[in-house]
Amino acid sequence: MKIELNKRQEHILQIVKEQGPITGEHIAEQLNLTRATLRPDLAILTMAGYLDARPRVGYFYSGKSSAQLLTDNLSKLYVRDYQSIPVVVNEGISVYDAIVMMFIEDVGTIFVVDQRAFLVGVLSRKDLLRASMGQQDLTTMPVNIIMTRMPNITVCSRDDLLLDVAKKLISKQIDALPVVKEAEGGFEVVGRITKTNITKALVALATEGL
Ligand code: ADP
Repeated sequence: MKIELNKRQEHILQIVKEQGPITGEHIAEQLNLTRATLRPDLAILTMAGYLDARPRVGYFYSGKSSAQLLTDNLSKLYVRDYQSIPVVVNEGISVYDAIVMMFIEDVGTIFVVDQRAFLVGVLSRKDLLRASMGQQDLTTMPVNIIMTRMPNITVCSRDDLLLDVAKKLISKQIDALPVVKEAEGGFEVVGRITKTNITKALVALATEGL
């Protein structure tokens, strides 16, 4: 969805609103442009949902509000298209090593798995900071005593809507969700979805269209 339309696209929209259904040829004539020059603009307006196109009839105005179009388009975004690679550690790793891992991998959330590679915990920046404030030796403290653990972990799947993930991040007040695949005996971690992924999706929506 193109939230900001350029001048020409606004003009096309105006013409179709007043005269639709109208063919691409006729729109081009009125703008003193060739049909070929107009094609990308018509494609964008159609993909974004402002215009509908019918073969042999032409273009007509969809009549949808910007808010409706935004909702329509948000409802087409899935986790699988925006997820990142997960950073995963074993539950026996030390808090010290998890901190090093967080810096090396440049992530804010690490997922913890057991021997069978099933999800057992989540470590956030503040979990690690909190553990660092005590007097204990971080090199011998295993992460499984400080992590948030199953079954209290909020997860999502590749086929979930990005919008539903965003709602979970807000309601649970967290920064990231593991993308999981259900297996016999637990969840395999197949991805990571964060506020950054969602922000990127929003920017893509606003600048590139879908
Ligand atoms: P931070 O604590 O660095 O602000 P978050 O807001 O993501 O980062 O985490 C807040 C708390 O919620 C932490 O204790 C963390 O372990 C936990 N947490 C983070 N992600 C999840 C998740 N997907 N499911 C359950 N708990 C989570």
